[in-house]
Amino acid sequence: MSKVPSDIEIAQGAKMLPIADIAKDWDILDDELELYGKYKAKISLDIFKRLENKENAKLVLVTAINPTPAGEGKSTTTVGLGQALNKVGKKAVIALREPSLGPVFGVKGGAAGGGYSQVVPMEDINLHFTGDMHAITTANNLLSAAIDNHIQQGNELNIDARQITWKRVLDMNDRNLRSVVVGLGPKGNGFVREDGFMITVASEVMAVLCLATDLMDLKRRFGEMVIGYNYEGAPVYAKELGVHGAMAMLFKDAIKPNIVQTLENTPALIHGGPFANIAHGCNSIMATKLGLKLGDYLVTEAGFGADLGAEKFLNIKCRYGGFSPDAVVIVATIRALKMHGGVNKKELSGENVEALDKGFANLEKQVENIRKFGLPALVAINKFATDTQAEIDLLIKKCEDAGVDVVLNECWEKGGEGGIEMAEKLVSMIEGETPDFKFIYDEKQPIEEKVNAIVTEIYGGRGAVFSGKAKKQIKKLEELGLDKLPVCMAKTQYSLSDNQNLLGAPKDFDITVQEVRVSNGAGFIVCLTGNIMVMPGLPKVPSANRMDIDEDGNISGLF
Ligand code: ADP
Repeated sequence: MSKVPSDIEIAQGAKMLPIADIAKDWDILDDELELYGKYKAKISLDIFKRLENKENAKLVLVTAINPTPAGEGKSTTTVGLGQALNKVGKKAVIALREPSLGPVFGVKGGAAGGGYSQVVPMEDINLHFTGDMHAITTANNLLSAAIDNHIQQGNELNIDARQITWKRVLDMNDRNLRSVVVGLGPKGNGFVREDGFMITVASEVMAVLCLATDLMDLKRRFGEMVIGYNYEGAPVYAKELGVHGAMAMLFKDAIKPNIVQTLENTPALIHGGPFANIAHGCNSIMATKLGLKLGDYLVTEAGFGADLGAEKFLNIKCRYGGFSPDAVVIVATIRALKMHGGVNKKELSGENVEALDKGFANLEKQVENIRKFGLPALVAINKFATDTQAEIDLLIKKCEDAGVDVVLNECWEKGGEGGIEMAEKLVSMIEGETPDFKFIYDEKQPIEEKVNAIVTEIYGGRGAVFSGKAKKQIKKLEELGLDKLPVCMAKTQYSLSDNQNLLGAPKDFDITVQEVRVSNGAGFIVCLTGNIMVMPGLPKVPSANRMDIDEDGNISGLF
């Protein structure tokens, strides 16, 4: 087994440079940097004007096979690749999502890469950071308060309290808040109604932050959000409650991308972090656009596997952002592929070339998916200490036989040094090939057609089946003219299908769309294919139980 210390021990030993020094090296002016202490800062949006005519960097998207409990290492690879590109003489920046406190205290622990490929200061990034989550939570709950107050004050808009779709939020895993009753008590406490909480990162406000292109676009999108329906069944928009301006005001700082660094002092933009199931799962468009102006390469990631995170990055984020990747890195681990080949988690350490051979189908399908968008793909094998040479040789051979570019990635163990071959291959791939990017569907197509395109082209299924409820909802959105938006599939991340137990590359399956909702401010239609969790719960022994702080302020247990 590897003798590498824990992620937090490595992070605490980092030799960070003052973020102002890094900013200077990357053409960010003093006046554009708003310091939050010595090692983190926000970048003023004025920088966009100054760098307007600068040529964009090459954009690299990091995605993965369908995740398994064995772990894949997308963030680790994103950080490691950024570090490696700098080692081979390219100026590279990375862009990642901000972690949510819910999963930090739940099962996942911190989310800032791993091993020698991490972003730092890790504690700050995981805990409160620069307060963006607070702004999102507050703006969301201001709208909730405005809705209930509007009803209390006479309900001029005729809001049907039974049809309010807007929920309160909190950045915490707390299952007891999933369904609540608000307004109990005397008359002065408002009308009694059923409500519920979502985790902040599942909110439409978070999705809006990540898809907005500037402050005025953010405000406009807040105004366009549908909060529910009136007694005539017509949508009620946030702007009708008159608080979208105040909501945008709360983002005066939160809208600015945050900059920190990796263990090897590569700049990292960390901004926005929507869930990848109910929302689109990538950092903000503004951070991506900024990264494209700062160096030669911007490496960014999308949540979960290529069927979910990358599909939405490409079909939703790229559509609104007006950019597209020059290449895509698909992270795979031998452990996870063995799970796709039928091995259970407890038996992953032993060599099993047969299972790897079988599980390869999942990787092959995800490569095909990226190519369907007209993009070149590079498979990066994230090497674990338990991988055997026979397994590594087989995986490389299978990729080569299938005409897939592949490279071994040792960024977790060796930092940027472990990703040099990956960086070199990527650079020659990008320099040698001009991608011919195309969307999988046109947003003007009917909702059913858009969903069917994703199911047949990307998931490899037969087609989509819509429940009676979903059909009714689609009809209503069509009548209201709210249907001409990209679709955001809410599906299990574990399988290409909507059944989380179907691993590998299943065939001949249908996807059942149970429910269809519009996130009109974010600008997408959410198609729910199962019970998608918008407020997670804590496990029997939460990660929080391992965390501590001593009298000198030293933190432990945050992974
Ligand atoms: P993802 O972005 O796919 O969720 P991360 O990069 O956050 O994955 O990694 C998840 C966890 O797996 C982290 O704790 C990280 O340290 C660990 N990890 C990643 N790659 C390796 C590796 N090659 N060997 C051992 N642990 C790893």
